Amino acid sequence: MDIKKNIKEFENTLADTGCSLIAVSKTKPVELIQSAYEEGLRDFGENKIQEMVEKHEQLPGDIRWHMIGHLQRNKVKYIAPFVHLIHSVDSLKLLQEIEKQGKKAGRTINCLLQVYIASETTKFGLDEQSLIELLTSDEFNSMSHISICGLMGMASNTDDEHAIRKEFKQLSLLFSTIDKKIDHQAVEMRELSMGMSGDYKIAIEEGSTMIRVGSAVFGERNY
Ligand SMILES: *Cc1c(COP(=O)(O)O)cnc(C)c1O
Repeated sequence: MDIKKNIKEFENTLADTGCSLIAVSKTKPVELIQSAYEEGLRDFGENKIQEMVEKHEQLPGDIRWHMIGHLQRNKVKYIAPFVHLIHSVDSLKLLQEIEKQGKKAGRTINCLLQVYIASETTKFGLDEQSLIELLTSDEFNSMSHISICGLMGMASNTDDEHAIRKEFKQLSLLFSTIDKKIDHQAVEMRELSMGMSGDYKIAIEEGSTMIRVGSAVFGERNY
């Protein structure tokens, strides 16, 4: 795997798109992340708390760490002091814990709300109605250490490009709807996190501002 070449290719693909690359480094060793860092990457995505904490401790301090995986509430405290963006907020209860830990750490934590767009039942996320309920709730209104920066979604794991595009379109539409509907100082729809190794090209065409790419940068993962 020539990660240098892969990174160059992504730089070319993303030039002038307004979309940025989150290099998904889960399961990959710190040496490999360090090499990607030396090629200029600063945004890395992890899906496990423990792994993110360990890598954060060993790697340069100016890396922006993105939590992209399903989050257990009792573990938020470990990443609250340093996490750059949590992509995977899927409940009010989780958001309340992030608020609590943000307060303790003395910082405002950037979050994306994860939306359920796939036809598979295994994926996490909020539907449109619960998303709007959350953003208009008194509980959310009383929070002061949360900044909602946008939405995240995962398309179905399929070769059917038409189906994938349809799901991304749906998320993109919701992104602009929320932007118009919700007038709240802690909500600003700037980032639309969608697209992975298999579907990032479609995601960019449908308005993604952050693609989360693992295997196409670092090679296949061995679990
Ligand atoms: C693993 C993962 C990715 C990256 O997957 P690749 O197919 O390797 O690009 C993106 N998003 C989430 C939420 C992931 O868990």
